[in-house]
Amino acid sequence: MTTFVLATHNEGKKRELLAILTPALGAGTEVRTAGEMGLGDVPETGVTFAENALIKARAAAAGTGLTAIADDSGIAVDVLGGAPGIFSARWSGRHGDDRANLDLLLAQLSDIAAEHRGAQFRCAAAAVTADGREFTAEGVMPGRLATAPAGENGFGYDPIFVPEGSELSAAEMSAEEKNSRSHRRVAFDKLAAILAEQSGL
Ligand code: IMP
Repeated sequence: MTTFVLATHNEGKKRELLAILTPALGAGTEVRTAGEMGLGDVPETGVTFAENALIKARAAAAGTGLTAIADDSGIAVDVLGGAPGIFSARWSGRHGDDRANLDLLLAQLSDIAAEHRGAQFRCAAAAVTADGREFTAEGVMPGRLATAPAGENGFGYDPIFVPEGSELSAAEMSAEEKNSRSHRRVAFDKLAAILAEQSGL
């Protein structure tokens, strides 16, 4: 039996991660969230997604003695040089105000033509083992920014993000369709493959 702690309070992320880790690591794999284990939030002082994911994973490993897994993600807009990036959740100045964040981004790009509206969702996944080994893996979902929000599914910037090869926004797709090729899925698939090669987790 391998038990991991996931440095999040989000039950949806826990379910998604179990679905990725179990095939890679075997049926005995169990995931508990930081919330279930009574861990609080840590300040995200890193300047890259990978640094912030590692900061969260280190804190969860230290707080539980288990191998810890964390992620950090956001949207990177080409014409903004990769911003909002690590500031995605608080781009408008208010942490977690999804609507204000996407409205500001749309306003900033209001004069930018379709061919220059490239953007990517990016995710870094990190694992820190109980004995201090550290691993990171990154995933990217390429696409472009729409000119107006569309769709009710998903969260964050989904209503204004159109994944490559699609005419629909990520918020118009089903969760299964988006998650099957999301930045998070790619990052955690890679991390699961790395962990599957480790012993003594
Ligand atoms: P976190 O990594 O869960 O803290 O997410 C950071 C922020 O990036 C979120 O608040 C969203 O604004 C944005 N973000 C990350 N992944 C996605 C996604 O899959 N869809 C839409 N927005 C996302």
